[in-house]
Amino acid sequence: AFNFNAGPAALPLSVLQKAQEQFVDFNGAGMSIMEMSHRSAAYEQVNNETEALVRKLLQVPDNYKVLFMQGGASTQFAMLPMNYLTAGKQAAYVDTGAWAGKAIKEAELIGNTVIAASSASDQYMKMPALDQLSLDSNTAYLHLTSNETIGGTQFKTFPNTGNVPLIVDMSSDILSRPLQIEQYGMIYAGAQKNLGPSGVTLVIVREDLVAASNKEIPTMFRYSTHAKSNSLYNTPPSYSVYMMKLVLEWIDEMGGVDKLAAYNEHKTNLIYNVIDNSDGYYRGCADIDSRSRMNITFRMANEELEKQFVKESEQAGFVGLKGHRDVGGLRASTYNAVPTASCEALAQFMVDFQKRNN
Ligand code: PLP
Repeated sequence: AFNFNAGPAALPLSVLQKAQEQFVDFNGAGMSIMEMSHRSAAYEQVNNETEALVRKLLQVPDNYKVLFMQGGASTQFAMLPMNYLTAGKQAAYVDTGAWAGKAIKEAELIGNTVIAASSASDQYMKMPALDQLSLDSNTAYLHLTSNETIGGTQFKTFPNTGNVPLIVDMSSDILSRPLQIEQYGMIYAGAQKNLGPSGVTLVIVREDLVAASNKEIPTMFRYSTHAKSNSLYNTPPSYSVYMMKLVLEWIDEMGGVDKLAAYNEHKTNLIYNVIDNSDGYYRGCADIDSRSRMNITFRMANEELEKQFVKESEQAGFVGLKGHRDVGGLRASTYNAVPTASCEALAQFMVDFQKRNN
């Protein structure tokens, strides 16, 4: 299938094949990795190698912890304010659309939450400028969503927030481009787009923030709990972590994040070029400077035509091109593992569809 699902999303075929080879018998152990104790040497090695690969691929400095957690990015929306939005503090959020909005809602349940910037007046189709942010001295953190999966917008750069920790939800674009980890207090991402199957959430957090995490909340919700126990405080999502390791090995073989950034740009240009050269037959939703390299959103003249597009695309072997149910339209999610051939096929399908139905 030409899989353009938004998440869970396409995985590299070679990763699935490797997992299949090892599924029943992990490295001669006579059992699957998912049947092993999470306290076994074999699993601990998987845990540690996965962490080492994250550190290598994102050049994570030694004063940051790499954690594998559960509950998806949605749990991070709540954990963040639970840990840092304590009495006398405020949390600042940049409102860029659907996912930022969900993070904001959770913070508002916990404490004083302010909107530092918003693109609501642009219908969230443009990322707001962040060069003039003014943050109060009692700001616990500034939260951003690097890539809005539903709207199809993406930050190209990140602000310097001085002493205020910058915390970023990178669920839908982690490992798609190089990052300067030192710029962030914390980044987090649910796995099911660029990292592997759902079930594990990657958190990279600076040690001073781990130390500052709230000790008056339940044990499982403190970052310090997971940092102290090497992400093995309770039973981890071991199979998802193992799959993440295989995906990270694949990224390494692909040449790392610099190579992937160029690869993703090439792949998405194939589709954006069709949109831009269609004389308005396809209309890109996002402002050109805010266009995502992970989720391409576009509309057609009317919903009837969009329905026909989806139907014919499915008949031609494409999966997942219907836009999110909240916004409608069309969306092609082109994460790391979506091959160039799928994007070429979609570009050609779009050109042919226009010719047939113009
Ligand atoms: N943040 C972003 C940007 C997302 O795209 C998603 C899910 O699609 C989430 C958060 C929520 O992630 P989860 O389903 O892992 O809770």
